[in-house]
Amino acid sequence: MKKRIAVIGSGIAGLTSGWLCREAGAEVTILETHANRGMGTHTQFLNVEGGESGHVDVPLRVMSPHAWPTVLELCEKLGVKTFEVDTQIACSWLNSRTWFRSSKIQFGSRMFPWVPLNYLLRQETYRMILGFIRLFKSDPDLLDSGLTLKEFSDQHRIDPLFWKGLLYPLLTTICTSDEKTIDHWPANQILDLLQKIVFGARLRRLQGGTKALADKLGEGLNLQKGIRVEKLVEKSSGIFLHSQNATFGPFDYVISAVQANQLNFLPEQYSSESKLLNSFPYDSGTLWVHRDVRFMPERKQDWSPLHFQMDKDFSQFMFSVWVNPIEPTIAHHEPVLQTWNPLFEPKSEKVIVAVPMERAVVNQGNHNLLKELDLLHKFPSRKVFFCGSYAAPGVPLLESAVRSAINVVRHLGFDPSISRQFKIPRQVSLEETSSNLAA
Ligand SMILES: Cc1cc2nc3c(=O)[nH]c(=O)nc-3n(C[C@H](O)[C@H](O)[C@H](O)COP(=O)(O)OP(=O)(O)OC[C@H]3O[C@@H](n4cnc5c(N)ncnc54)[C@H](O)[C@@H]3O)c2cc1C
Repeated sequence: MKKRIAVIGSGIAGLTSGWLCREAGAEVTILETHANRGMGTHTQFLNVEGGESGHVDVPLRVMSPHAWPTVLELCEKLGVKTFEVDTQIACSWLNSRTWFRSSKIQFGSRMFPWVPLNYLLRQETYRMILGFIRLFKSDPDLLDSGLTLKEFSDQHRIDPLFWKGLLYPLLTTICTSDEKTIDHWPANQILDLLQKIVFGARLRRLQGGTKALADKLGEGLNLQKGIRVEKLVEKSSGIFLHSQNATFGPFDYVISAVQANQLNFLPEQYSSESKLLNSFPYDSGTLWVHRDVRFMPERKQDWSPLHFQMDKDFSQFMFSVWVNPIEPTIAHHEPVLQTWNPLFEPKSEKVIVAVPMERAVVNQGNHNLLKELDLLHKFPSRKVFFCGSYAAPGVPLLESAVRSAINVVRHLGFDPSISRQFKIPRQVSLEETSSNLAA
């Protein structure tokens, strides 16, 4: 008989686990509290009168093949195309001038980080280049695995302008964690990730955006929308899930793919799971999608897809993404920006949407929590499993969400054929993608 599996939540973790279970022959029902699929629910569709329509993923998905191999392999399996983008960086003082810009230079088939000519002779640029040289001269494999990033920077006397002005804003952006956490992160892991992102293959985006991947994962799945699971009841005949007006079940297994701090539906007998999962830290904030160009460098020629703004003592900073150069469907629209927790609010007439969001924070404690979760999952008669962006070790959350879904599917006795080895395809540029789309 087919295994009957319920998945609670249709973010990327829920859709991936549901899709993999169905591929393996199970009967899958997904319950989602939103009126639509959770994954891609905040995507903005921007229509210009008489012009092209476009979309903006919220939050934006930009992935390095080295750090997001499983997500990209999943896309490949599903036939969701990806394309390469360049995400140059600009750094500016708050309300003041831009002091650094990066660019890329091509040698043969490879791209290397470089600096635009008008920035080459600046003192700050040399301090940045020296910082990179210091950083990349050290071989992560030779570093003591207990050495923290802070200890590494102290030992190598790394310039604060490079460290606090560029590296920390970049790392807090990629790693979804705060400065303190980054200070204590093992230096070898972060250096390895940075080397791969800066010197490795170019970053990629999904053609058709998050929606394209969500559409493929959701194809043929029994998705019950507008259903908030409020109670989980285990009986001898199976597991039942109750919402305010309906009951679903019986199921043989349940995969909880909601965030770790949203598990109010678990009954008393799951108190140890609730306690463990409630210990995962979260960061909340608002992601603003807007057109307020005060969040970009003063001079248009300094605009870069990633813009970090900070005050001169580095006590506060924010980053904005200029979406147009990396999203072909809005390449010719007015500027669209995304800013996470801005230090000042964008002008109201320039706001497209402001979405309150929470994201799992990776810190030193997670490692032990994940070990405990893994042990719980291995309990022989287990029927309820947990996955999501908090539930797998590693830095990029989307990758962790997909990996945790694969782990859960394995615990259920299935063998999903995902190798976590994304093979970087022939280079497809943004220009090529734009002309494909236009055609
Ligand atoms: C500003 C921001 C920027 C980010 N940038 C990146 C990035 O660059 N790279 C990256 O890898 N990651 C990034 N992330 C993180 C990534 O987007 C998320 O971690 C990931 O999408 C979470 O997926 P998930 O499936 O674990 O959870 P979710 O997407 O939260 O899905 C959980 C689903 O469960 C549903 N649900 C909850 N409770 C119930 C219930 N009781 N009954 C039924 N349904 C329920 C919810 O409605 C939701 O749809 C970013 C996040 C934010 C906020």
